Amino acid sequence: MNEELTTALKPVLRDLSATCAVQPKVTEEVYHGEEHIVLYERDGSGTGIGLWLGRNHAERIAHIADQIQDWAVEALCAALKPAVWPECPTHPDSHPLQPEVKGGIAVWSCPHTRQTVSLIGELPRPRPRVESEGRERGPRRKRERRRARE
Ligand SMILES: [Zn+2]
Repeated sequence: MNEELTTALKPVLRDLSATCAVQPKVTEEVYHGEEHIVLYERDGSGTGIGLWLGRNHAERIAHIADQIQDWAVEALCAALKPAVWPECPTHPDSHPLQPEVKGGIAVWSCPHTRQTVSLIGELPRPRPRVESEGRERGPRRKRERRRARE
């Protein structure tokens, strides 16, 4: 497979598999002699993911995150689940995070506060909401926040 496409795709697919309620079947296909990645839904509909040529690595990741986000929102909608991915941890049940490039790094940010939530590829797994109740919760390390400042 096209190595640039693979390396730009990897962090986004990692976030998708860690935090999204629907998962695609990822395939490589060749059209007009060029390799493409296609994400399939359960109903058989496919969405091609393209690489932004001539851009730097971070911009490519953000662009792919944007396309995969579109896929996820449609797939969630088709599965009758809340069509928000990735969910903003600061504003749950309201809006998705936005992929962008900050300081040469591809990140997920809250579109309202403009705050960086995570690097693309390192979205924290969602904490189970029910289980956390009545349970002692230790201090959570501010790993994401520290990283975002770098
Ligand atoms: Zn937000």
